[in-house]
Amino acid sequence: MLKVCEIAMRRQLPTPEVEARARDARTRSSSHTVPMRDQPIKAIHVLSSGTCEQHPEHRFGTRAPQLWWVLTSRRWVEVPLHYFAFEHHDGLVLFDTGLDPAIASDPRYISSAIGRFLLRRIFRLHIGPEDGLDRRMQSVGLSAGEVRLAVISHLHFDHVGGIAHIPQADLLVSQREWDALSQPHPERQWILREHVEIPGVQWRQVTFAPTDEPLLVPFGRCLDVMGDGSMILLPTPGHTPGSLSMLVRSGAWPPLFFVGDLAYEARSIFAGRVPGTGDPETLQGSYAKVRGLKEALPDLVILPSHDPKTVGRVLAATRGGGQA
Ligand SMILES: [Zn+2]
Repeated sequence: MLKVCEIAMRRQLPTPEVEARARDARTRSSSHTVPMRDQPIKAIHVLSSGTCEQHPEHRFGTRAPQLWWVLTSRRWVEVPLHYFAFEHHDGLVLFDTGLDPAIASDPRYISSAIGRFLLRRIFRLHIGPEDGLDRRMQSVGLSAGEVRLAVISHLHFDHVGGIAHIPQADLLVSQREWDALSQPHPERQWILREHVEIPGVQWRQVTFAPTDEPLLVPFGRCLDVMGDGSMILLPTPGHTPGSLSMLVRSGAWPPLFFVGDLAYEARSIFAGRVPGTGDPETLQGSYAKVRGLKEALPDLVILPSHDPKTVGRVLAATRGGGQA
């Protein structure tokens, strides 16, 4: 089992009641039921906000300057827009919230004219009203109103698009990522403040705590979200300075590593091939840590949000416990 790492958050999560229940579960002997600590997560659902297309230069990197391929590339590759729901014993948890369909229907969704121009050059979006978080959750038998918390890997618009549907949930984001909002012109980094700081949502900035767990030491710090070792947040900067990933360990499943946009495809991490966005050196540093984790946990399943293989890998790893 993972040694539980320390919890350090602005508002403590989990609550004392949850911690007491988790403690209780750890000490309870059970001969005929699976103890909570062995299978804290009942199911994982892979959700999608439609699909989009991006340039291969963006996805796989290129020596050409970014502005060059943004303006001249005529090649496109299809990309899924995934986010994830976890049925944990203590409540429904999301990892990211997808893209808001309003981006396709509301011409003013992106407030700056240059932003609207660049978006059309960088992405072709295929998203409709049926792709909103509330309807996508309904389609797999879940309710947005039951989400207890959502871990946000980073603040790009295709990861925060569903937050308006879950005002009751705590939205966890790294302090470092949150700090980007107070930098000049976060929209130039595709962080759209007006779609992040919306009325009624509850953002919680998390600070990672030191860990002496040998598996996690290379990452420096971590955060045990549920207090039971089943969902561990780790800093994986590079795509954005405050990007985080989530290591999920539950019962008989192999360990699952949800890496957000650290890489667009898992194979890029092993090839050390950085995309045409983000900070290459920082990305390589995070890739090395992920490869180290894979060496320590050979059955680790690495799950980028925009990798077409992610759905199949979750289904295979959870033996049907996940849903597309
Ligand atoms: Zn993304």
